[in-house]
Amino acid sequence: MSKNQILSIKEEDTMLSENLRDVEKKIEGACIRSGRNPKEVTLIAVSKTKPVEMLQEAYDAGAREFGENKVQEITAKYDQLPQDIHWHMIGHLQRNKVKYIVDKVKMIHSVDSLRLAETIDKEAQKKNVVVPVLIEVNVAEEDSKFGLSLEEVVSLIEAVSKLPNVRVQGLMTVAPFVENPEENREIFRSLKKLSVDITAKNINNVTMSVLSMGMTNDYEVAIEEGATMVRVGTGIFGARDYSR
Ligand SMILES: *Cc1c(COP(=O)(O)O)cnc(C)c1O
Repeated sequence: MSKNQILSIKEEDTMLSENLRDVEKKIEGACIRSGRNPKEVTLIAVSKTKPVEMLQEAYDAGAREFGENKVQEITAKYDQLPQDIHWHMIGHLQRNKVKYIVDKVKMIHSVDSLRLAETIDKEAQKKNVVVPVLIEVNVAEEDSKFGLSLEEVVSLIEAVSKLPNVRVQGLMTVAPFVENPEENREIFRSLKKLSVDITAKNINNVTMSVLSMGMTNDYEVAIEEGATMVRVGTGIFGARDYSR
C-alpha cells in the first residue's frame, strides 16, 4: 500500500467518526429545541451497501445500532462484526427470508402485512425468541413505497397483537425525498398522532414506545415531531455506490 493510500484511508476514518459526532450533535440540538431528552432518541447507523471495514470504524467510534435493508447483508455482516451490535432490519422483508434473521435482529421496522407478521411469529417460535417489530406506514401514500395507509394500521396491529412471538413496539415511516425537510414535517406529525391514538386504545401486548422516522435529509425535523429512532446512512457513511 502506498503512503497516499494509507493517508486516504486514515482520512476516511476520521471523517466517519467526525460525521458520527456531527449527527449526534444535531440530534442533541433538535432535542433541546423541542424540549426532549437526547437519551430518548436512538441513532441507527444505516450501513447498507457499505463494507464491513466501514462498519467496524463506526463501531470503533461508538456506534452499536446498525440498520440494513437486505437479509443477505445482515447475515454476512453479522458473522464478521462484534456480537454486541444491534441489527435493525429496515427494508422490505420477504417471507421466505425471515428465518435467516429472526434470531439475529434487534427489531424489524418494516412489517406491513399480517402474512409477514405470521411468518415472523412462526419462525420466532422455532428459535424460541420474541421479535420486536414496527408497523411500516406509507403516510404520504406514495405508490413507490411499501407500508400501509394510515387507515389500515389499527386493524393490522389488532391482528398482530395476538401473535405470541411478535411484539408491536411502534411505527415506522419512510418520508419522501424532498429538497426542504420542512416539507416532511406534516408527515412526521401524522405518524406521531397515529401512535398517540393507538396508545389510547390500550391494545394488549402493544406499545407505541418507538417512532422510527427521519433519515439524513430530515432527521432533525423528525425528532422535533417525536421520532425516537432516526435512520441515518449518507450522513454517517457518505453517499452509496450502487454500481458495484
Ligand atoms: C437507506 C435508508 C435509510 C437511510 O437513508 P439516508 O438518506 O442515507 O440517511 C433510512 N431508512 C431506510 C428505510 C432506508 O432504506
